[in-house]
Amino acid sequence: MNSQVRLNGRYYSVNDRGTIDVTERYNTDQYMRGGPAAWAIEEPMPEVTGIMVHHWAGWFGPVLNSYASPELELQRLDALADFHSTAWGIGPGYNLVAFPSGRLWAVGKHGTHRAHTKGRRPLSAPPDGPRMKWNYVGRAVVAAGNWQDEEPPQLLVDALRDGVQEIRSWPGVSPTANVYAHRNVPTVSMNGTLLNQATLCPGEKLLPHMNIIAGVGGRTPEAGIPEVSGDAMLALLDEHDAALDDVVAGMSEIRDAVVKLRGARVKMQGLLL
Ligand SMILES: [Zn+2]
Repeated sequence: MNSQVRLNGRYYSVNDRGTIDVTERYNTDQYMRGGPAAWAIEEPMPEVTGIMVHHWAGWFGPVLNSYASPELELQRLDALADFHSTAWGIGPGYNLVAFPSGRLWAVGKHGTHRAHTKGRRPLSAPPDGPRMKWNYVGRAVVAAGNWQDEEPPQLLVDALRDGVQEIRSWPGVSPTANVYAHRNVPTVSMNGTLLNQATLCPGEKLLPHMNIIAGVGGRTPEAGIPEVSGDAMLALLDEHDAALDDVVAGMSEIRDAVVKLRGARVKMQGLLL
């Protein structure tokens, strides 16, 4: 069930994952040079075989913290859209944006050409498929901020992971689509010459989190719940019992202290009379 959020007087839909859909805000003549239709990927859409993880480095102002308002984040998204549409005629160049607040925004429509990863995927002729532009057969989630030197907050990493899952849920996305850090995207030119992405994107400090973002291994909600044997469970309950004893002991200390305070108050009253 989608719900809605009202931002600056306009309503946007929010899906079960919490993703705020502002794709219509940017799917306009203002942000898509020559109009949105010029950037539609013709049907049948080629299978999506790559999911790219980016950061937007130092652009669009200082990194927002975990308490940023949605309105402030939307302001940054507008700046991103303005910049990309001026530079490449399509803004924003990414599909999804994740913020340190944990908020995830859909900014670029699935099924439209974007501008996030240069070159083509290095597949040769059929049956492997032609060398398609990554901006056609890749979808991109970007981490707001610069994660080259700074440690990304957990909420941001989680939002990126949600972004990857969001993309995996879209029609036409291969179940085996790889998740790439932008700098590691294998790329060729039109004639098959290897190209280097030549970027530090998505930042050195985000790289160790790529497995989690891709949803392979690492920390997952399931991994947080260990299997527990009967004996271990009893030991755990004993521990809890001991902890409860501590609480009870603590409470009686507090009660004693309250009794003493009351006594002191009575004495004070006696002195004041
Ligand atoms: Zn990038």
